[in-house]
Amino acid sequence: MSDLITIALAKGRILKETLPLLEQAGITPQDDLDKSRKLIFNTNHANINLVLIRSADVPTYVQYGAADMGIAGKDVLLEHGGEGLYEWVDLHIAPCKLMTAGFADKPLPSGRLKVATKYTSITKQYFLEQRRQVELIKLYGSMELAPLVGLADMIVDLVDTGNTLKANGLVPMDFIMDISSRLIVNRASLKMKNRAIKQVIDKIEQAVSEPADDLKQNRVLL
Ligand code: AMP
Repeated sequence: MSDLITIALAKGRILKETLPLLEQAGITPQDDLDKSRKLIFNTNHANINLVLIRSADVPTYVQYGAADMGIAGKDVLLEHGGEGLYEWVDLHIAPCKLMTAGFADKPLPSGRLKVATKYTSITKQYFLEQRRQVELIKLYGSMELAPLVGLADMIVDLVDTGNTLKANGLVPMDFIMDISSRLIVNRASLKMKNRAIKQVIDKIEQAVSEPADDLKQNRVLL
């Protein structure tokens, strides 16, 4: 019998692009993940389970081996720090950019900038490299609101179409980094369940290198 492999998936935006990739890899959940309120799902493989959690929790589940593998955004991985896990492969799904954003027509204060973000670790590093003094304000969502109500001078957030910024009268300013989702693997699982893990990795890597036509449209060019 093959070892049981648990794969942690992130709810929300990434899931929409993850499911076709898993399908292409021959891994099909037995329920509709978008509609079900369950958190653990069986698949067409008796030894592969999926758990569906918040994106920021995916590296933590994989770090502690509660999931053997996971799919998480590079943003979330950088904030987590990557302890106890391998970042195996760039899946080239859910591509977006991490950017600063603010008002187009309002000059920034010359002194200490107030920056609101969920990504405090990356943002701190970025402004350190820019040699700019900032006060970081940690938020957990709806960052766009912060400049509108005077909580911050600018925000650091993921930008895809730019529609969310535009709808709130903000514009993207400086590019910080490209972001996409990565396959991550628990270090101990890779040793202990090597054969089963490698089989799953192979399936996923093959799906990444030979995307189905409908997947290619969502994918940035390799
Ligand atoms: P958009 O309006 O398309 O620029 O999307 C921006 C909103 O979606 C922001 O709230 C972002 O935090 C979020 N977002 C954009 N791309 C991603 C992604 N790849 N993963 C997770 N959240 C994202």
